[in-house]
Amino acid sequence: MPYKDPKAGAAYRQSYNKKNRARLRNYHRKYRGKNKNRIRALAALRQRKYRQAHPEQVRAMNNRIRRNRRTKYRTWLSDYKAQRGCKCGEKDPRCLLFHHTGESKKGFTIGGQGYYTDNSKYARVDIANRAWTDILAEIRKCIVMCANCHLKLHSPK
Ligand SMILES: [Zn+2]
Repeated sequence: MPYKDPKAGAAYRQSYNKKNRARLRNYHRKYRGKNKNRIRALAALRQRKYRQAHPEQVRAMNNRIRRNRRTKYRTWLSDYKAQRGCKCGEKDPRCLLFHHTGESKKGFTIGGQGYYTDNSKYARVDIANRAWTDILAEIRKCIVMCANCHLKLHSPK
C-alpha cells in the first residue's frame, strides 16, 4: 500500500533499506553477477544514445580528456628528460630530446609535433593519442640527448 504522504513513503523506504542493507546488498551483488552482459549492454546503449544526442558535449569531453592526458604525459616526459640529462651536462628539458639508438626500429617521435610519413604526407602526432605503454616502449629504444649533441651526432664535420 503506497503512502499518501510522499515524505512518509520516503521515510519508510529509507528505514527499510537501512534495516535490510546486508540482504539488499547481497541481492544486488547476485543480480549483477548473473546479469553482467545485460547490464553492460544497457550501459553501452545508454552511452550510445547520449553520444548521439549530445555530440558537442562529447567532443568537448574528449578534448578535455586529451588535453589533461597531454599535460600529464608532457610533464612526466619533461621530468624524465631532466633526470637523465645529456652526457655533456645539459639538464634543461627544453633542450633535451629522445634519440633513437642503434638498430631498433623507430615507432614514432616522442614529443614531436609532426612528421613526414613514408608517402611524404605531413602527419600531426598528438602524444595524447598514444597509449602510455607504447610511449614507455618507445622511450626504451632511446637515449636522452641535448639538441646540440644530437646535431653533432647526425652531421659530423
Ligand atoms: Zn649534449
